[in-house]
Amino acid sequence: MAKKIQAIRGMNDCLPEQTPIWQKLENHLKQVVSSYGYSEIRMPIVESTDLFKRSIGDVTDIVEKEMYTFDDGGDSLTLRPEGTASCVRAGNEHGLLYNQERRMWYMGPMFRHERPQKGRYRQFHQFGVEVFGMASADIDAEVILLTARLWRELGIDKHVELQLNSLGSNEARAVYRDALVEFLTQHEASLDEDSKRRMHTNPMRVLDSKNPDVQAILVDAPKLSDYLDEESVTHFAQLKALLDAAGIQYVVNERLVRGLDYYNRTVFEWVTESLGAQGTVCAGGRYDGLVEQLGGKATPGVGFAMGMERLVLMLEELELNQDIAAEVDIYTVLVGAGTDIQGMLLAEQVRNQLPELKVMNHCGGGNFKKQMKRADKSGARLALILGESELEQKQVTIKDLTGKNEQQTVAMAEVSTHITNMLTH
Ligand code: ATP
Ligand code: MG
Repeated sequence: MAKKIQAIRGMNDCLPEQTPIWQKLENHLKQVVSSYGYSEIRMPIVESTDLFKRSIGDVTDIVEKEMYTFDDGGDSLTLRPEGTASCVRAGNEHGLLYNQERRMWYMGPMFRHERPQKGRYRQFHQFGVEVFGMASADIDAEVILLTARLWRELGIDKHVELQLNSLGSNEARAVYRDALVEFLTQHEASLDEDSKRRMHTNPMRVLDSKNPDVQAILVDAPKLSDYLDEESVTHFAQLKALLDAAGIQYVVNERLVRGLDYYNRTVFEWVTESLGAQGTVCAGGRYDGLVEQLGGKATPGVGFAMGMERLVLMLEELELNQDIAAEVDIYTVLVGAGTDIQGMLLAEQVRNQLPELKVMNHCGGGNFKKQMKRADKSGARLALILGESELEQKQVTIKDLTGKNEQQTVAMAEVSTHITNMLTH
């Protein structure tokens, strides 16, 4: 037997048993963003490597070690590790951004060469929102409200916490960076290799370190909040007031800096304790400089991305996947000569008349017992049974597989009325 070829590590199949929960999540997401008037944008999965280097930043985990980059006849291309850079690139390219207000969303696979573990994969999926052309805190509040609504809809709102911070302006951050470097230099001997290196290349990244020893040293580090410019302080205060008015709870996490370089002012993360180490389910913030940095005219932006695998894991762990609708409502059972033709036509008739129902027509013959087993296994609520006597009388027997209703034999022409009756009783 030939050796089986397997999927790439960290790149998962989503099997038919799992797709219903994904569809549930996707439908909720689409419904919520459309209720805020956002439109979908779809970008390519492959972009030029420069796009990510210039936006995410050279000295970040993503660009330093996580990108899938390859040569395409002399051009360096990369499988997108996130969506914001592509969205801004597309916006600039098609003139969607300058002097306009845009509220957009996207969904799709992202690729990062990370060590696969629960909640961390090499191909994963993000749902994201990007809003352009508005600098005021009300729009920051809106994107956060939108995520909060989603958690309520999904029933996970009690299991996520909003963490919030302000990074201030680029100028304020530059002053803070100097103070931080001075502090880190004093503690250089106790830092790990990564932090030592970053101290010189991108010191803010040290704050994001996942090493508990480094985090312990940082307790006494200068605080970004003491360095914020006045406008950013006001902006942050406005955001907090808006969230308070909407009843959205949050904690200010002074060390929240995010793993990408393009953020300024607002940054936020929704975190959960239900998933262990991979606790961030949604992360975002403001990126007022990014459009210009990627060659467009200065346009403010704010957005977020959520990790869909982590949300699916949460729904499973909290057992919120129970109410997912069955894949099949009706299964036909066809026994005797000619019932295969009539069964096919009957199934078509029901699909015409009740298009919201899922009708699975039995194929391949077999005895009554075998077909009834299939009907049970399909998860259908009703079996439509067609035997030779029914065929002769132009009738069909409807059997409620849950036992809630008596079995009925009815005229084939009226089957849909009886189906509707049974399903509502
Ligand atoms: P982390 O700190 O977990 O590495 P990040 O800061 O790299 O996250 P972002 O780039 O902000 O993550 O991506 C937004 C969201 O996408 C994350 O909060 C997470 O839910 C999800 N995500 C990021 N990387 C992965 C991955 N490798 N596998 C699954 N989900 C991921
Ligand atoms: Mg990461």
